[in-house]
Amino acid sequence: MLWTVEPTASIDSKSRLGFNPAGSMACRTLMGKIEDLVGGHLPILAQNRYRLPMRTVVYPGSFDPITNGHLDVVQRAAKMFDQVILAVANNETKHPLFSLEERKQMALSAVSNLSNVVVETLEGLLVDYVVRHKACAVVRGLRAVSDFEFEFQLALMNRKLNENVETVFLMPKDSYSFLSSRLVKEVARLKGDVSPFVSTEVVQALRLKLNTSND
Ligand code: ADP
Repeated sequence: MLWTVEPTASIDSKSRLGFNPAGSMACRTLMGKIEDLVGGHLPILAQNRYRLPMRTVVYPGSFDPITNGHLDVVQRAAKMFDQVILAVANNETKHPLFSLEERKQMALSAVSNLSNVVVETLEGLLVDYVVRHKACAVVRGLRAVSDFEFEFQLALMNRKLNENVETVFLMPKDSYSFLSSRLVKEVARLKGDVSPFVSTEVVQALRLKLNTSND
């Protein structure tokens, strides 16, 4: 017998996920089977032996405002990794419509049902932020070929700044591939209906900010 069952030592399923989603799933399945066999508990020795490091990723962006396309990417990342930090960047050079705090609040409300997603603000170099938060990768969304060149440059620049920082690209559902914060703002400015593209909270925020309420 390899171990004895110790009823107080329960398994923390989050700490067993790994970077390779397929590997993680296989590991989780195996651990789940072992847990079933021993009644949901494993001794500490076995836990330590099989525990994989927690995998955190950073999803940075302006999120001015957060759209359903961003949300699609976050949901995919949240399934693959233990923790996703949605990092709202200041990005003053882009002249954002919403303040950093407003963008953070909208993002917070949009991801409130995702228990392993946290929202933070990001200032300074992304690679430094990634290292500070012990994240294993940066997540970026790829909508179409037109995104590719910029995203490719960004990923390689980040790698130049810190060769340990990897970038993972995720594609949204094809119905979001045309969607961008910039277009949402343009449509909202012209009093078009943006409710299919953003949360009701963002619809409201756009109305207030752009003074386009129909009442
Ligand atoms: P940034 O100023 O960093 O480009 P954005 O908020 O515009 O900030 O975008 C953040 C990330 O989300 C980028 O990787 C972008 O390609 C991605 N993204 C934006 N809109 C969508 C969408 N509709 N579907 C998938 N990814 C998206």
